[in-house]
Amino acid sequence: SKKLAAAHAEGRATYSFEFFPPKTAQGVQNLYDRMDRMHSFGPAFIDITWGAGGRLSHLTCEMVKVAQEVYGLETCMHLTCTDMERSKVDDALQEAFNSGCTNILALRGDPPREKEKWEAVDEGFRYALDLVKYIKSKYGDHFDIGVAGYPEGCDEETNADQHIPYLKQKVDAGATFIITQMCYDADIFIEWMAKCRKAGIPEQVPIIPGIMPIHTHASFVRRAKWTQCNVPAGWYEKLEPIKNDDVAVREVGKDLVAEFSRKLLAAGVMHLHFYTMNLAAATRMVLEDLTMTPSEESHDPAIKPLPWRQSLG
Ligand code: FAD
Repeated sequence: SKKLAAAHAEGRATYSFEFFPPKTAQGVQNLYDRMDRMHSFGPAFIDITWGAGGRLSHLTCEMVKVAQEVYGLETCMHLTCTDMERSKVDDALQEAFNSGCTNILALRGDPPREKEKWEAVDEGFRYALDLVKYIKSKYGDHFDIGVAGYPEGCDEETNADQHIPYLKQKVDAGATFIITQMCYDADIFIEWMAKCRKAGIPEQVPIIPGIMPIHTHASFVRRAKWTQCNVPAGWYEKLEPIKNDDVAVREVGKDLVAEFSRKLLAAGVMHLHFYTMNLAAATRMVLEDLTMTPSEESHDPAIKPLPWRQSLG
């Protein structure tokens, strides 16, 4: 987060890419190649999710290691409390530490597939807060700890205001950045961010919007419904008539997501987090539209100042 803070202090916005562990060995190799290529788009860091219920969690640790050690990517490892006894948490943190990883996104986790409700296996790890405290107590300041935020609510509680005090607790316990659930409505995000600040979450803790670029019509609709995020007026109407033409969907989707991102950047957001779904094209198109990708010669994740920020002075 020091690296981000330095870039932001100079008025340079940054971004990151989220990947998830693929199910097959070939899928993993393909993803490494893609991650390597996407490094040239200039992310400040990438992150690897922790499989629901600890599924494929060994792969998360392995991918973090390879991303850090082989590809030299600044990596953030997701870690959840789902089905995690203390010894498993210890092992995961030790592996991350050994790989040179210095960033953990501490989460409670989704329930495993076969269960509807979340249950703790270790009473010591009931909430993400417990994980934040534990990481802090064991590793001090070694890890930059991120936590999840929900501009449109979480679990059955869709009133986002109810969750803000718990978010504040996670920050008070040592989290230094917040990444949010995917959101497409800039007004909702900006209003919620202001409430977080008013609740005492300090400006030094970046509140990073989770952005899902639009890859296909079907995945867009499925994801938006699953997370119950508000889709701004006109989006469905623009995408529905072209839903069977993936190229056209990506083009229109790029315009919509870039417009959303522009509003956030103009409101002072300095870092965008892309849920890549392990795909490159839609994310690259949004970044190019925002003129945020680095020039051919430079692989420096430090991004040039954004035109609309310059005009804001
Ligand atoms: P918490 O902060 O623990 O909150 C869980 C619930 O408990 C909320 O309703 C909260 O309001 C409430 N709560 C919190 N503290 C208290 C308290 N002290 N007393 C009473 N209630 C409390 N899931 C995965 O399985 N793997 C991943 O890799 C993953 N990555 C994610 C990345 C991002 C950016 C986001 C936004 C989510 C991710 N998730 C992932 C999903 C996440 O695990 C779920 O949304 C989960 O249901 C909540 O996790 P949390 O960390 O926000 O939980």
